[in-house]
Amino acid sequence: MLRIALLGCTGSIGRSTLDVVEAHPDEVRVVALAAGRNLSLLNEQIARHRPTLVSVEREGDRAAIIAPEGADVCVGADGLMAAATYRDADVVVVATSGHASIAPTLAALDAGKIVALANKETIVCAGELAMAAAARAGTVIRPVDSEHSALWQCLQTAAPGAEPRCLILTASGGPFRTFSPERLRTVTAADALRHPTWDMGAKITIDSASLMNKGLEIIEAHWLFAMPYDRIDVVVQPQSVIHSYIEYEDGSLIAQMGPADMRLPIQYALSYPRRWPNTFRRADLAATGTLAFELPDTGRFPCLSLARQAGEAGNTYPTVLSAADEIAVERFLRGEIGFLDIPALVSAALDAHTPDGAVSLDSIMAADAWARGFVRERARSS
Ligand code: MG
Repeated sequence: MLRIALLGCTGSIGRSTLDVVEAHPDEVRVVALAAGRNLSLLNEQIARHRPTLVSVEREGDRAAIIAPEGADVCVGADGLMAAATYRDADVVVVATSGHASIAPTLAALDAGKIVALANKETIVCAGELAMAAAARAGTVIRPVDSEHSALWQCLQTAAPGAEPRCLILTASGGPFRTFSPERLRTVTAADALRHPTWDMGAKITIDSASLMNKGLEIIEAHWLFAMPYDRIDVVVQPQSVIHSYIEYEDGSLIAQMGPADMRLPIQYALSYPRRWPNTFRRADLAATGTLAFELPDTGRFPCLSLARQAGEAGNTYPTVLSAADEIAVERFLRGEIGFLDIPALVSAALDAHTPDGAVSLDSIMAADAWARGFVRERARSS
C-alpha cells in the first residue's frame, strides 16, 4: 500500500490525484492533506480520506478544520513542511502552484521521499538543488506534468548505450495560435480562458496561451532528464494527442500518446512501474483523424525564447522568469495590462537582474522577491 502526502489537495491537480486514489483503494492511501483556503472542500476530502496530518494556510482557519480524532493539524509554511516530510508518507505529491512549495519539496527529497512533482516552479527555479537533493538522498522525482511524464515513458525504451539525441516537447499552441500580432495586442483573459484543451487553473491557461508554459517546460526537461538545452525542442501539436516524444541517433521517434486527461500522468507517477486499469476516456485516433505538427512562432510568442534564454543563463534567471511571469499574468487576469505586456515585463526583469553568487534556496527566494517587486513597479508605471 502506497501512502501519500498531497500538497495542494483542493486545486485542479490535487482533486485529480484524489480521483485516482479513490479509484484504487487497494493500492494507495492518503496520510496527509495540505490545502490553502478552500476549507469546505478540504473538510469533505478529510471526511473521505481520513488523513492523520492536515495543513492549512492560515492560523485563523485552524478551528474550522474537522480533523479525525488524533490527527495533527498544522498551519502555514511549517504545515507544508510537516506534510512534505511526514514520516508516514512514502510519496509526496506536490500539486500546489507557485513558489510556496520550493522549500518543502527540497525537504521532502532530503527526507528520502519519492516526489511526484506537478509544481513547475520547484524544478524551474531550484532544479539544480532538487536534482542534487534527490541524488544525495537516493530518491527520485517522478514527473506529473503531462509532457514530462510522456518523456519519462519514452525514455524507458532507452536500452543501455542508446542515448536519445533530442527530447521534443509538444505544445497545443494555445487559444491564440493563429492570431495576428495586432489581434494579440487586444486579447483579454476571458478570451484565453474560454476554450482550454486541458482543464487547468487560470494562471497556467494564460501561460499556455503565451507559450510561457512551454518555455518553463523546457527548463523542467533540462533538469529532470539532464539534457542540454540545444537538445530540447518544441513542436506544436494542436490536437494534444502526442504528449511529447524523443528522437534517437538512428532517427527513430518514440512518442507517448493518450487522452488529454491529467489523471493519467498522475496515476502513472503513483503506479510506476505498473499500469493500473482506469475508466478515463480513451484517445480515439480514428476519431481524431489527423495529427498536425508545426513549429512554434517565437516572434508572436516571445515567452518561449525568453524562457530558453533564462534557462541557458541559469543561476537565478529562471526564478526571475517565473516570478516576473506570475505577477504579469496576475495583472493581465485583472485586465490591468495587455497580453503582449507579459513578455515585455518578463524581458525587462531578466535584463535588469544580476545574480548574487552561487544558486541557493536563499538566493532563489531573494531573486523571486526582487522580480515580483520589479514587475509590480513597472506594471504600475506603464
Ligand atoms: Mg504541461
